[in-house]
Amino acid sequence: MNQFDTIIIGAGPAGMMAAISSSFYDKSTLLLEKNKRLGKKLSGTGGGRCNVTNNGTLEDLLEGIPGNGRFLYSVFSQFDNHDIMNFFEDNGVKLKVEGHGRVFPTTDRSQTIIKALEMKMLENGVSIRTGCEVVSVKKSEELFHVKTAEQVFTSRQLIVTTGGKTYPSTGSTGFGHEIARHFKLEVTDFEAAESPILTDFPHKKLQGISLDDVTLTYEKHSITHDLLFTHFGLSGPAALRLSSFVKGGETAYLDVIPQISSEKLADYLQEQREKSLKNALKEIMPERLAEFFAENHNIKVKQIPQKELEGLIQYIKALPIPITGKMSLARSFVTKGGVELSEINPKTLESKKIPGLHFAGEVLDINAHTGGFNITHCLCTGWVAGTQLPDSY
Ligand SMILES: Cc1cc2nc3c(=O)[nH]c(=O)nc-3n(C[C@H](O)[C@H](O)[C@H](O)COP(=O)(O)OP(=O)(O)OC[C@H]3O[C@@H](n4cnc5c(N)ncnc54)[C@H](O)[C@@H]3O)c2cc1C
Repeated sequence: MNQFDTIIIGAGPAGMMAAISSSFYDKSTLLLEKNKRLGKKLSGTGGGRCNVTNNGTLEDLLEGIPGNGRFLYSVFSQFDNHDIMNFFEDNGVKLKVEGHGRVFPTTDRSQTIIKALEMKMLENGVSIRTGCEVVSVKKSEELFHVKTAEQVFTSRQLIVTTGGKTYPSTGSTGFGHEIARHFKLEVTDFEAAESPILTDFPHKKLQGISLDDVTLTYEKHSITHDLLFTHFGLSGPAALRLSSFVKGGETAYLDVIPQISSEKLADYLQEQREKSLKNALKEIMPERLAEFFAENHNIKVKQIPQKELEGLIQYIKALPIPITGKMSLARSFVTKGGVELSEINPKTLESKKIPGLHFAGEVLDINAHTGGFNITHCLCTGWVAGTQLPDSY
């Protein structure tokens, strides 16, 4: 059979959820994915554990989606992060909430999430074709003609969920933007969002250290969140969030203990004066960091001259890190830019110009912070696009 009610291009979170809702509404549904496996990019999120959503309030969600989050009011009124959590729990996936509202499967494995989506699609009778790249799309006589290397499929509804342009090795190469342009829809310019930051920081000893809730300040912007020192610089949510302000050539300052003021740190060190500096510091920060700060002071706190101790406190509270730039679009986590939202009906995600053509997920001009916010908008827009019935166009 080559004719379906709905064809979906791209099996990321948006496409798989669109296939589930489309088939839930009894439409014959075909999902086409060029990779051999489903959800390749999704499997790498949350450090391979799949950060499937965020359990925050609607306000938290909108704050977590700085790139056009407000377009999603209507979508979230139909399907939101709580519906995502209910969906997975109802389908046998136990979830847990970690810091900053991030939701993961209790197995800590992305495959748990991807398998649950796949099983639901199969249960609902979705036809899934993997290793099947769409090469062109046309519309004539109310039908979309979707061409792959081997055959042409037709449908009255087409949902494009081909993702953004980051990590092209996962399959997201911007094909959906070409479809939009083919139908004369505007596509906004692309920019890297949520990019790891490149630094000229000579302290190799810090590589691999991951810190919870530290404050990173760059010019007038300050972010308190988790941070990771890597071989190229900084990653983790604090760096990714700050990256949108980064131009390069300035210095960022890191406060590794924002919950302890400089005055309190001075008092604390006085109390610990009989201890070595390293032993005093390791009570209030990870041992490798304590070692780093105590590197040139292998002595007791009381032996450190007062002026030097004051300088050290300043250094700990504002560690200077010269920033040289940020990763390119291809090596960033999220794409800023995509199908222009004024082209799209926010209630149905259908193109205003081309009846039956829908877009969902990162292919749209929506970008969010990591922490489950991208996956949330992808799953929710996917669900809503899938619910639209052929009679409506
Ligand atoms: C390393 C990394 C970590 C991340 N961590 C997080 C995180 O912790 N939290 C968070 O919220 N977000 C995170 N993100 C972002 C999140 O993964 C994406 O926003 C999300 O996967 C986008 O979903 P999507 O369904 O729109 O598209 P994608 O997941 O990109 O899926 C699109 C699919 O379309 C397929 N496709 C494209 N063209 C064609 C074609 N011509 N024919 C057939 N198939 C095609 C692709 O192969 C791909 O499988 C992370 C991203 C990366 C790269």
